[in-house]
Amino acid sequence: MGRTSKDKRDVYYRLAKENGWRARSAFKLLQLDEEFQLFQGVTRAVDLCAAPGSWSQVLSQKIGGQGSGHVVAVDLQAMAPLPGVLQIQGDITQLSTAKEIIQHFEGCPADLVVCDGAPDVTGLHDVDEYMQAQLLLAALNIATHVLKPGGCFVAKIFRGRDVTLIYSQLRVFFSTVLCAKPKSSRNSSIGQWGGGARLGGAHLRDPSAQGGGGSRPSLYLIPAEAFAVCKGYDPPEGFLPDLTKPLLDHSYDPDFNQLDGPTRIIVPFVTCGDLSAYDSDRSYPLDVSAQPTLEDGSEYKYTPPTQPPISPPYQEACTLKKKGRLAKEIRPQDCPISTVDTLPQ
Ligand code: SAM
Repeated sequence: MGRTSKDKRDVYYRLAKENGWRARSAFKLLQLDEEFQLFQGVTRAVDLCAAPGSWSQVLSQKIGGQGSGHVVAVDLQAMAPLPGVLQIQGDITQLSTAKEIIQHFEGCPADLVVCDGAPDVTGLHDVDEYMQAQLLLAALNIATHVLKPGGCFVAKIFRGRDVTLIYSQLRVFFSTVLCAKPKSSRNSSIGQWGGGARLGGAHLRDPSAQGGGGSRPSLYLIPAEAFAVCKGYDPPEGFLPDLTKPLLDHSYDPDFNQLDGPTRIIVPFVTCGDLSAYDSDRSYPLDVSAQPTLEDGSEYKYTPPTQPPISPPYQEACTLKKKGRLAKEIRPQDCPISTVDTLPQ
């Protein structure tokens, strides 16, 4: 892939680099704030699943806190430092990480908890869905420990099988729960069964399997991400946050969460971001003169990423490649018979 091919495909990726954001996700939080005034009166915030750090950048620039620690950023991966942001490297589903975060807010709770977490996708749809729900609930569990009354919680969700149950659980703790879709967040993509396809950062179980059989379509729609925006933290009277009790127990009967009748919660769905904002599913030309709404009409110049990943998983492969030691494994069955004998031992 050429250096500019992602620039060609994704206007928000390009704009993120031009505006100094570490990731295009920054626009999602900015557009959510535009719609819901998330940052109003906020001085202390937690950014869960924060790497590479564009949401933390937005938070540290937009909220009124002072000094290190008014934003606490947590991720499995290491993150390059940011002014005013205290970093914790750890797994938010682990008790030890949760305790470390909670400790920081003891006596001085947070106004806002955000979570943009997405687990690595395995391609096993039930497992992926389970992992995503667990991540959101781990974030909610931490939020119940650190949020001040009236505080706000924003978390990435995929509108899959468990979403009604998740909305119901969120409604237990917040007076307002909405589902929001920023303009910078991509819409559904087309996926292909088999091979653990993952497009657009989301996934879906095989719909034909839910219908109890029938022929499986070779293509399927992957639901795109959305964000649960929960305002007005107001836990039930007598509620005592408890880290040892998971909020969602998946040992229930699979049909348990088909909440019906008065128990079914339908939350409002809001698209946000200025209507004139770029459409994340469209490609815009690089030559800005061909797109008059793109600023000054000057010629396109490649902008390098604001913060290259600090220890990406592909680092070892890059080092091996530089030394000329990265080669595809040659298996005898891939070779024409005449070359098998000549393979180096
Ligand atoms: N909001 C970030 C930004 O603006 O730069 C982007 C977040 S990225 C989409 C998702 C992140 O979730 C990844 O960095 C990943 O390491 C993190 N993550 C996934 N599972 C996690 C877990 N169990 N604990 C902590 N972080 C996790």
